Amino acid sequence: MADRDRVVAYIVSAELIAASSQLPSNKQRSSTIHSLIHELGLSKRVKVIRPVRASYKELAAYHTREYLDAVLAPQSSDAPKTPHSLSSHPESDFGLDSDCPPFPALPAYVPLVAGASLTAAQALINGVAPVAICWDGGRHHAQKGHAAGFCYVADCVLALMALKRAPPIAPCGRKPRIMYIDLDLHFSDAVSQAFASSSSTRIPQILTLSIHHAAPGFYPPSELATLPDPSSPSFNPFTLSLPLRAGAGPSTLARIWPLVQNVKDVFSPDYIVMQCGVDALSGDPCGVSNWSLEGLGNVVRDALAWGVPVLLLGGGGYNTPNAARAWASLTSIALNDPLPLDTPIPDHAAFPLYAPSFILDVPAGTMQDQNSDAYLRDVEERFAEVVRVLKTSMAPRD
Ligand SMILES: [Zn+2]
Repeated sequence: MADRDRVVAYIVSAELIAASSQLPSNKQRSSTIHSLIHELGLSKRVKVIRPVRASYKELAAYHTREYLDAVLAPQSSDAPKTPHSLSSHPESDFGLDSDCPPFPALPAYVPLVAGASLTAAQALINGVAPVAICWDGGRHHAQKGHAAGFCYVADCVLALMALKRAPPIAPCGRKPRIMYIDLDLHFSDAVSQAFASSSSTRIPQILTLSIHHAAPGFYPPSELATLPDPSSPSFNPFTLSLPLRAGAGPSTLARIWPLVQNVKDVFSPDYIVMQCGVDALSGDPCGVSNWSLEGLGNVVRDALAWGVPVLLLGGGGYNTPNAARAWASLTSIALNDPLPLDTPIPDHAAFPLYAPSFILDVPAGTMQDQNSDAYLRDVEERFAEVVRVLKTSMAPRD
């Protein structure tokens, strides 16, 4: 294969793994993932880049100072529920409760994860590699002023903001366009909201498209998470959602993927940011979706073939060995040398986690796919209209 050795910038450091491994929702996930990728021989084939910690100023480009002061203050390890630093602010002011408790590594975690995604974005901007990977990033629920949905730092938003400021695109000299594609089971509420301005007289530089599970009461609640209605006056063709019903399997993902490609063709992005949360894979404790690793790999492979620089981020994924399988497989796909799905898991400290199959694959399970042909035809019709409106929105101002 001509470009078998595609250069992949891979953002990791011992510090990043140590801090990410303390994430309360995903304890030890980071170390498990990077270990498997190393054991499969991939870490010596990628271009490893250590993350530069984000500065306070870089974090404050999006987050509020009050929030940063809360999360960057030392956390007490013996009394994590009531950190002294937050005594003047109720924890709930910053979302630092219930699903986002403070934890001892939080002051290190926030600048490291933001810095990791910013380092990855910079690698693309500098042309170091056509693909950059930050599996510890992808925290798409973190808001300006509060933590949410297991996410404490808005690294996706910060990386998108950095790509927006990248040098103009030659030869036309226009500002770069970035398409954000979110594959996580959950709607990318914080990212979609951050870039959902509708009053611009210019073509927005960022288009967001989230593929996610949607059902009444399913996290996160958002009016933006529904199927687009191009006939509505509030419709914004640059803030798109593709909600799926329960049990979405590989054939549903394969069927809707061309709709994403159609949007991409019209928007003509200069960079792709893909949040590759893997909680829609079969076997995730969320238990509402049924993607296979093969199906996920196919869509990531397609996006990598679009010929524009791609930033791959992590995200959700609560079956730790399956998250490691998935992100190891996607790393090999980024290298343009996919590992066979029946690749044995190498013997290493975490080997027992991979029982009973002890291979790389995450096959689809037996859940019934409730995305009926009628529903998917509705999705296809809506997106045909989305594409028509998007074309109109872009044409006169370009
Ligand atoms: Zn998720």
